Parts: sequence; structure tokens; C-alpha cells
Amino acid sequence: DSQDVCAIEGDRVLREPICCILGHVDAGKTKLLDCIRHTNVQKGEAGGIMQQIGATYVPVEYIKERAKPREGVVIKVPGLLVIDTPGHESFSNMRSRGMSLCDIAVVVVDIMHGLQKQTVESLALLKDRNVRFIVVLNKVDRLCGWKHCPDAPIKKALENQSGDVKKEFQWRLTKVVTQLKENGFNTALYYDNQKFRKVFDIVPTSAISGEGIPDLLLMLVLRSQATMMEKLTFVNTVECTVLEVNDDKDLGTTIDVVLINGVLYKGDQVNVCTKQGPVATIIRDLLTPHPLKELRVKGIYKHHKELKAAQGVKIVARGLKYAIPGTSLIVVKPGDELGQSEAKNQRNENEEGNVIQEISRLKTCKEGVYVQASTFGILEAIIEHLNSPGVNVPVSGCNLGPIEKKDVMKASAMLKRKEEYAAILAFNVRVMPEADVLASESGVKIVTADTLYKLVDSFNEHIKRSKELKKMQCAVDAVFPCTLKILPNRVYRKKDPFLCDVEVLEGVVKVGTPICVYVGGAVHGLGRISSMQTSNGNQIDSAKRGVVVSVKITGESPKEKTRLYGRHFDESNELISQISRRSIDVLKEYYRDEMNDENWQLIRRLKKLLDIA
Ligand code: GDP
Repeated sequence: DSQDVCAIEGDRVLREPICCILGHVDAGKTKLLDCIRHTNVQKGEAGGIMQQIGATYVPVEYIKERAKPREGVVIKVPGLLVIDTPGHESFSNMRSRGMSLCDIAVVVVDIMHGLQKQTVESLALLKDRNVRFIVVLNKVDRLCGWKHCPDAPIKKALENQSGDVKKEFQWRLTKVVTQLKENGFNTALYYDNQKFRKVFDIVPTSAISGEGIPDLLLMLVLRSQATMMEKLTFVNTVECTVLEVNDDKDLGTTIDVVLINGVLYKGDQVNVCTKQGPVATIIRDLLTPHPLKELRVKGIYKHHKELKAAQGVKIVARGLKYAIPGTSLIVVKPGDELGQSEAKNQRNENEEGNVIQEISRLKTCKEGVYVQASTFGILEAIIEHLNSPGVNVPVSGCNLGPIEKKDVMKASAMLKRKEEYAAILAFNVRVMPEADVLASESGVKIVTADTLYKLVDSFNEHIKRSKELKKMQCAVDAVFPCTLKILPNRVYRKKDPFLCDVEVLEGVVKVGTPICVYVGGAVHGLGRISSMQTSNGNQIDSAKRGVVVSVKITGESPKEKTRLYGRHFDESNELISQISRRSIDVLKEYYRDEMNDENWQLIRRLKKLLDIA
């Protein structure tokens, strides 16, 4: 069994690098994994690629056989573990659970499309997390006139192509290199890459005919061992991440984990992070799938007394029902010194403690949306994305699992503070019916989507719509600032409704604007502008500085209706828009784009004049 043989480098024992595959939808992630997995199976070649729990194991013998590395190239790791995100995992663009535990990533780019939204997103996350990656330029077989060279190394396959194909390839490669450069990454074709510590590799592939796949496998192990020897050194401390929680009718609740480092033993006491706090339990069984050929003989799983990193494992134990995917599993050794084990428990409490504590690490603030996702890793990735500068959606709270009434209640706290944030951004979780009812009754918006981009887009759409609605509701309170000069001898009606020609001295006057005069230290309201027309009789809605218009001002309150031109005010008084605290707030909130500096200056002046706090 190739996995029992560990690679030894000096006095180090190395484990398999763990790899995950990212990229835009349809770039060929699934196909690539299939290609890595099946070439061997279909052709009955040696080497024994193994389907594991949540992962595919690629032994080093297989890589050597396929890639035939040059003389002198030494592969020091025992193989490669490629995480396959389960099919139902709709977080396909990020596969963030995979990302948080992987040593090296493959970012798949469709050569015909170049960088796409989710490629850029994946790259940004990898950069944030300081994860090394290789860019796969997939679908080379779609270049016009491509001659298939099944499973050939890419250099050979390219040499085999016509001049036109070579030209198209070069052109498309250059385009992708430029796009990557624009995103802050230096890249080069892997076989031209002299400075792989600084420059990222590009491996062209076809996931259909297999060109470049041997190169990719080889590069994954070579680059990993060259850049992360320390990280890949086998140690006896268990490092293990929960991938999935499953209900099995025979086994009960099990968890699928990736054992990243160390050895797990049947009977180990482990601490698992669950929605209800840390749970201490005993490993009752360690399972891996049977290699394909043995499947019929012995049932689905092989039972183990112990398993060594790195590999995917199914763990059977009690109390796992509420385990949280994306969190780590910690082994508590019975042989530990008393003090040590206490310290360890302490550490468990602090680090793994309960979800609330884990969640509280996430960046949240007082006013913001509520986020809910199926796993901790995804939740973390979503919040990170929402907080990123280009997106800027603040988050006030979050939770894992289905949306329940209590989540809606928490989100509804925003209704009073900042209404548009009274929303739950839900990723890959169910909405319980009673929660749905409560949400629509209380006015909490639940936004669901299956990619991060759609989630953010739908939320932005919701914000836009609710702002427009709010703006409409507030329109009557929005008072644009203006000062108007009454033109002498052009007053046509001296009592309500008052009628005269004015010149707009400052700001902008609109139909609906409440008008007042400031006489003898007091403010007298006259009413609202009920209509407005130009000198040639055209009805208009608004007029800017310098324009002369006829206005009709209609009183609303009994007091306004009694105001008389010539008695309470005259042409020496400017007509000014009657702003208020409320009107200023409304302008600030909804009408910023219709205001300019001059308008704001006028607001400040009128505010002083009208003595508004
Ligand atoms: P994913 O969404 O990234 O997992 O993409 P898939 O692996 O499902 O691939 C999307 C589509 O592209 C499928 O129809 C694949 O058959 C096709 N495809 C993937 N890789 C290649 C490739 O190398 N060459 C060609 N011609 N088609 C490919």
C-alpha cells in the first residue's frame, strides 16, 4: 500500500501535499479532476490512484510513470492528495473549505475565455491566505486545428501543432499573462519559469484529451516540496479538518475529515467543534473506501486501527450531529502529562470552544447585514469578501445552518438602525418556513444565492430597490435649497395663492418646495410652490440659478393662508426654501447625487438663518 510508505528526506519524513482545484464555473475543474482520476483507471495502468473520502490520492509512482521526470529530478513527497469538493457543494467558485486546508491550489482558466470573475475572486482569496498556486490554462484542444496527443506532456503536444495553432496559443497565453499581471501576479509558462519562488507557473492542459496533465501533477509535487518543506514535514501532532457531516443509516452520524498531519487511532479521544459547543468523543471507527477492485468483495468501507496523514477519512463517533464543517478536530491523548492535557483542554476551550467564539473572530460591526452559511469555512470566506474594499457590505452578525426564527429576529434589529441592512444573506442553507413567514411579516429581506457573486449582486439589487422606494416615500420631505428674488412690479396676486415672477438667486427651486420669508428675526411660512412656468408660458418642474420664472405659492396651514404681500413681507424680502432637520437628512441620505457643493453651502447658510439644530 503506497500510503504506508512515507517519503524520507534526510531525517525528515514528508507527507503528501494537499491540493484543491479552483476556478470559474465551466473552466473545467470537474473534468480536470476526472481526468487525473480516470486516466489511470481506464487504462489499467499501474500506480494505484485511490478514491478517498472527499479526496483523490495520487501516489508518486503514478506521477513518475506518467510524467517521466528528467534524470536527476527527485520527488521527495510520497504522493499528492487532491481535495474533491462534493458535487452538491454549490460553492464551486471558491471551494473555500478546500482552500483553507490546502497547501497548494490549482486555478483553472479556460484558455478561450481568459480570466473570469470567479478566477479573479479565487486568486484574491489565495493571495489573502498566502496559498501557492499553479494556473492551469485548460481546453487547449479547443484551439482551432488542435491535433490531439492524448496524455502527452504539453511541450511535446505543442511542438506537434501547426504554425497557426502555435500562434493562437501564444496569443491567448500572452493575453492571460497580461490579465494576471493586471491582477498583481507575475506568471510564466512553467517550463520557461526560472524564478518559481516569485513567478507563478502556468501549465496548459486539456482535461478532455489529457495533454499537460502529467506536467501538472509533476509541477504540483515539485513546487510543493521546493517551497514548503517545513509544512510538509510529517509530525506526530494531529492536524485534521472536518469536511462534511453525514447521516448514514448503518453507521449513524459520521464526519468526513481530511487528516492533514499526524496519525489518528481508533479509540482516540477527540474534541470536535459543534454548534452546541465543543464535544469530547471517542473515535469508534476509521473508514476509507475500498480500492475499486475490492469493492464487490467486502462492502463499501475498509476499517482501520490507525491512519496516517495525509488522507481523507470517515470517522464514526457519537455526538457528531452538530459538528461544523471547516473546523478542526483535536486529539486529546490519554498519555499526556496531567498539566499538558489540562493546557490542551484549555486550548481546546479557547480555540475550538464554541461556535459563538469562532464566529466572534469574524469581522463584524454594529450596523450591517446578517450572513448565514452551511459551513464555517464558507461563512468566513463570505464575510471576508463582503468586507473587502470593492464590495464594502458591513456584517453585523452571522450563524451556521438553516435559517430559523431566531436568526430573523436578530437580523430585524437593523430595521430600527439601518433598514436596508435588515437582510440575511444566505448561502447554501435552508430557510425554515416559520422563519420565512416571520421575515416577510417583519420586513427582513432574505437573499439566497448559490455563488458569492450572485449573492452580492442580489443584495445590491435589494439595496437599490429599497433606496428607490425610500426615496419615493421621502420625496415630499426633500427640500432643495434656494433663494428667490421677487421682481418688483411683477406681483400678480398678493394673497394666497400668491403669484409673482422671481429670479432664482441661488440653488434650485422645484414645484413642491415650501417657501418662507425671514422678516424681523422671525420665519414666516408662505406655503408650497404649487406650479411654475417660464415667461413663454411653459409649465416646468424646476429652475436653476439665474432663471426668471413665474411661481404660484399655495398656503397649507391657516396661518399661511392669511399672509399678505405688502403687509407681512414685500419685495425687499428674499423668498427662501423652508428647510428643516428632516429635509436635510433626507437630502443627505437619498439625494446626494442631485446636490452639488454650492447647494450644500446654501443649506449651511439657511440652516443658520432658520436656526436649525
Ligand atoms: P467546472 O464547472 O469548472 O467544474 O467545469 P466542468 O469540468 O464541468 O467543464 C465544463 C464544460 O467544459 C464541460 O462540458 C466539459 O466537458 C468541458 N471541458 C472541460 N475541460 C475541457 C477541455 O479541456 N477541453 C474541452 N474541449 N472541453 C472541456
